[in-house]
Amino acid sequence: MARYTGPVCKLCRREGEKLFLKGARCLSQKCAVERRAYPPGQHGRDAQFRRGRGSDYSLQLREKQKARRVYGVLERQFRRYFREALRRPGLTGSNLLCILETRLDNVVYRLGWADSRNHARQLVQHGHLTVNGRRTNIPSFLVRPGDEIGIREGSRTRTYFKDLPSLIGERPPVPEWLDMNENSLTGKVVRQPERRDVDLPLNEQLIVEYYSR
Ligand code: SF4
Repeated sequence: MARYTGPVCKLCRREGEKLFLKGARCLSQKCAVERRAYPPGQHGRDAQFRRGRGSDYSLQLREKQKARRVYGVLERQFRRYFREALRRPGLTGSNLLCILETRLDNVVYRLGWADSRNHARQLVQHGHLTVNGRRTNIPSFLVRPGDEIGIREGSRTRTYFKDLPSLIGERPPVPEWLDMNENSLTGKVVRQPERRDVDLPLNEQLIVEYYSR
C-alpha cells in the first residue's frame, strides 16, 4: 500500500500543531513546530497572520487531514475505513478511530516497540513481527481481540530488539485494550479499542461531517 514519502514536519506545520510523527525528535528543541510555528510554503508567514477560524468546510478538511497524517494513511484507504465505520453499529466517528487504532503498525507503536507509527510501519514491513505466530508484513493488517503479536524469532537477535526492553520504559504506557509481556516481548489484544482509549486531540464528528457533505 502506498504511503506518503514527503517531508514529515511540514505536515505538522500545516496542521499548526505537533502530530508526533518523528519519535524522540518531536520532544526535542529541533521540532519544526517549535522553531517555525507557521504553515509551510512561500506565503506561510503571511498565512500565520491571516489565520482566522476558517469556514466549516476548512475545519472539517483539516480535522480529516490531521487524522490521516497521524495514522499515516492515504486518502483512498482512509475513505475505505470510513465506509467500514459506517457499516458498523454505533457512532461512525468513534468506529473510524477504533478501526485506525487496530492497524498493526499502530498496535506495534502502542505496545512501545517503536518510537513513532512510521517506525512501527517500517518494522512491520521488514518482516520483524508476527501475528498469532505467523510472520505478517502488512502495516494495515487489522488485529482482533485475542490476537497475539510477537517478534519473529530470527529478529530477536538484532541489536534493536535486544535493547528494546530498556527503551520501552521511556515510551508512553500501553493502553488498556492491549496487554504486553515485557519478558517475552509479546502483546495481546485484550478487547476492541473504544473511543476513550484513543488519546488523540481529534474531533471525529468533523470528519464524519466532511464525508457526509
Ligand atoms: Fe511534528 Fe515531530 Fe516534526 Fe515536531 S519533530 S514537526 S512534532 S514530526
